[in-house]
Amino acid sequence: MPELPEVQTIVDQLNQQAIVGRTITAARVYWPKTIASPDPEQFCETITGLTARKLTRRGKFIVCQLSKGQTLLIHLRMSGRLNWTAKGNARNKHEHVILEIDQTHELRFQDTRKFGRLFLTQAPQTILGRLGPEPLDKTFTGRRFLSMLQRTRRQIKPLLLDQHFLAGLGNIYVDEALWAARIHPLRTSNTLTAAEAFALHRSIRQVLRKGIMNMGTSLGNGQGNFYSANNRPGKNADQLKVFRRTGRPCLRCGTTIVRRMVAQRSSHICTKCQQPPCDGKTPKKRTTA
Ligand SMILES: [Zn+2]
Repeated sequence: MPELPEVQTIVDQLNQQAIVGRTITAARVYWPKTIASPDPEQFCETITGLTARKLTRRGKFIVCQLSKGQTLLIHLRMSGRLNWTAKGNARNKHEHVILEIDQTHELRFQDTRKFGRLFLTQAPQTILGRLGPEPLDKTFTGRRFLSMLQRTRRQIKPLLLDQHFLAGLGNIYVDEALWAARIHPLRTSNTLTAAEAFALHRSIRQVLRKGIMNMGTSLGNGQGNFYSANNRPGKNADQLKVFRRTGRPCLRCGTTIVRRMVAQRSSHICTKCQQPPCDGKTPKKRTTA
């Protein structure tokens, strides 16, 4: 599932293709449900003739500001990807939306599992406004993160996956960040010490920056896996320290990495580096930071 670094990689590559300034000269929808709003017919009619003004990312959304006050939001969900190609190349059956660009190129939304969604809207904030802060933004400081953690009493892993709490993280980068900060995924957010919160804040930003530098994480060769807009897999999979390393030694202490279900998601943990929380009867000893 594409997370912040994968989405950023796609945005960066489309910007390298100089998508800004180009015009959508036709639109075709092959799987109507992919268009979340408006209805597919209206979508094609409205988007045709609009020019791309700016391409950015917010959380896991690709945000394309268009002329006439319209914005195209793309959420890749499980297996969505964007293919940038010359016009007229044969369409594969998983390419559900095709935007013709300047009559010479096509931007195609491909999605084997069909959970991805496109929104064409004049009010993107109604969707984006609900997202939590951007983890790589300057305003997302360690102190702010600490106070966010202290305001709630939720298990840290599902909390970090909650896009309303913090935008952009998914299963891979949360496992990596928790391991790097030596925090067990079942810890309750407000039991983290200030030192732990600052360490987690640092590691979240580090794993995301490294993911972007390596142009995303691709975990296999399947159609549903992450590929950039240039049809290239990311290089971050070799750099993962804990995710999908079940049964292999922890790179820090040698303890065998285990896989546990946490909030219906598989989690990869070193049980020595990441001490599980004590049960409710014996509150975890808090150290002052
Ligand atoms: Zn370890």
